[in-house]
Amino acid sequence: MTMAAPLLTKPSSVAHTAQEVNPLHAQYLQQSPLHFAYEKVLSGERITQQEAVKIYNSHDLLAIGMLADLARKRMTPPELQNHVYWVHNFHINPTNICEASCKFCSFKKGPKSPLAYVMSVDNVLEMVHKYPQNDTLSEFHVVSGLYREQGLEYYETLFKALTREFPHVHIKGMTAVEMKFLADVAGVSTEVVLKTLKDAGLRSLPGGGAEMFSERIRAEVCMDKITATEWLDVHGQAHAMGLSSTATMLAGLGETPEERVEHMVRLREQQDISGGFMTFIPLNCYYDNNKIDSKHALTGIENLKNFAVSRLVLDNIPHIKAFWVHIGEKTSQVGLHFGVDDLDGTVVQEKIAHSAGTETSQHLTQDELRNMIWKAGRVAVERDSLYGIKAIYEPPADTVGYHEAHTFG
Ligand code: SF4
Repeated sequence: MTMAAPLLTKPSSVAHTAQEVNPLHAQYLQQSPLHFAYEKVLSGERITQQEAVKIYNSHDLLAIGMLADLARKRMTPPELQNHVYWVHNFHINPTNICEASCKFCSFKKGPKSPLAYVMSVDNVLEMVHKYPQNDTLSEFHVVSGLYREQGLEYYETLFKALTREFPHVHIKGMTAVEMKFLADVAGVSTEVVLKTLKDAGLRSLPGGGAEMFSERIRAEVCMDKITATEWLDVHGQAHAMGLSSTATMLAGLGETPEERVEHMVRLREQQDISGGFMTFIPLNCYYDNNKIDSKHALTGIENLKNFAVSRLVLDNIPHIKAFWVHIGEKTSQVGLHFGVDDLDGTVVQEKIAHSAGTETSQHLTQDELRNMIWKAGRVAVERDSLYGIKAIYEPPADTVGYHEAHTFG
């Protein structure tokens, strides 16, 4: 049976005082130029956009990590503070044919490309039936290209079929970009598309398609995509219907730190209004087979800052995820000390980032995920799509890293 995990506890309702903070961290932060953020995290006061930029531009990575870790703990009930979540999920990408032309995309193919593929509903069902662990799956993650031959009717049929054959699996499907495309092709509103797919079995929306909200960057790299405002509106509509969602940010497109922070603040504003975002997922771009200059590639430090600053800014979104496929397994593990509390999942056959050159595995086993978490000194928790707890895994006594972390605090 699944236990519901509290999504968010406001800082004021968690019993922490300055004295409960690791005293060495407290001493360090009090003397740091970022002491203003330390005081705000302790008091639960919101970090402003200007302050977030100042934190982002600081070179004191350790102070930034300490701040984010403190913020994470203060918005999490004490009994959950050591948890790191993952979900047993399965990615389904019904086609790679897409009529948009995002410059960072290496997944999309034209309809005549020898690499183009289209999966029928039966093809998808057959693929999932062949997956040996489909009986313990928690989530289907369905995203695809914008292909008008696969319209609303196709996805309605697909979701009904998945619900019929795998009733235990939550369907997270279709980015806001795809929802708007299906609506335009069908000549209906996005509300009609959301309602139709919800009735067919859709339970939440993935956070893709947000890219970078900056109008300057969108005009450069994805000018035929929906605007940032439209993306936020679709999520607001989904939240109003009781559908949860996640949100992403694709960095490494040539944006500035100010534009990354602006992206986070716009999400915070939407969350204040509609409240349905469960998780924020900072992603980084890869550069094989696409038109973005690799000189924009993020450093490891920038990846860690994206985790930490988003944890500090998004005081109303419960979880920060390191999608190990994009960020890499090692940086994701370090991210657990920079505000991250979620590592996504088993994934199974990731196609989108791998077509752009990420060198991570296409699949992690549950054993591998548990080990990553334990060796970072945390407790591994399998969750469902809505952060209900399915199983808690304490590490074996001889796990290198876990017990040392608890010895030294
Ligand atoms: S990112 Fe999505 S919308 Fe853009 S070209 Fe690729 S598949 Fe199409």
